[in-house]
Amino acid sequence: MDILRWQVGDATVLRIAELDATPALEGLIPQFDLADISGDAWLRPNFVDEAGRLRGLVQAFVILIGAHKIVVDPGVGNRKKRVAVPGWDDLHTDFLDQLQAVEVAPDEVDYVLNTHLHFDHVGWHTRLLDGTWQPTFPAARYVMSGEEFRYWESKPEKEIADQHAGFTDCVLPVYRAGLVDLVADDHSVTDGVRFIPTPGHSPHHVSVLISSGGQFAVITGDVAHHPCQIAHPEWASASDFDPDQARSSRRNLWERFADTDTLIIGSHYADPVAGRILREGTRFRLAPAEG
Ligand SMILES: [Zn+2]
Repeated sequence: MDILRWQVGDATVLRIAELDATPALEGLIPQFDLADISGDAWLRPNFVDEAGRLRGLVQAFVILIGAHKIVVDPGVGNRKKRVAVPGWDDLHTDFLDQLQAVEVAPDEVDYVLNTHLHFDHVGWHTRLLDGTWQPTFPAARYVMSGEEFRYWESKPEKEIADQHAGFTDCVLPVYRAGLVDLVADDHSVTDGVRFIPTPGHSPHHVSVLISSGGQFAVITGDVAHHPCQIAHPEWASASDFDPDQARSSRRNLWERFADTDTLIIGSHYADPVAGRILREGTRFRLAPAEG
């Protein structure tokens, strides 16, 4: 998949794709499967394909702002043992080559940000070198919600094995290497980049707000897995930790940014991935922006 690129003032946001998540989205939003979406024609064909399937991706984002090179939510990662989703085990993708292609060398990355600590958002924190999981971005500060970290550190029994595995082989190695900053859910990372709390999909889920030269963008994380949840914020994802809290975080985010120039960048949205939220009566929709 192509690199996508958006300009936000003097900042640049790049999309680095890892894999097609369309098969994994099947059944993820149960109310979608039951609903008539003929009133949401804008979802086709980019976000809902001809067969009526939700389309989606696993992808990371790079923010180039000031002198900083920032990676957000780096995917599933290579060679990780994962069992929950067919096709996501023992990956061998060209993710790092794609980073190199946009002149982002692993040792030049200043910050790695997490919207949350699910295994499809922390994968490239580490890579296998000499038989051990070592930091992929050795000069970076890995910045994540401290409360989210403590939740996963407590080994919650309700979570599936892959989530625990992701914490163990992606998050803990960078934590033990002293590279992690555990921060508040509204933390300011650097000039023009901050977290905004959007809890519910995970206990301390955050989104990333980028501002430069009077322009704004939000990397949403999994506030909404799919744009159908812009039209229907009440539709929960099966993997939402607290569905009611996730619903209100979704609705609040659309309310806050509707009819503004803020670019909404969806972490699992299929191409074109980003757009602006428009209010139509009591409803919302996404007006895609080409990258
Ligand atoms: Zn995700």
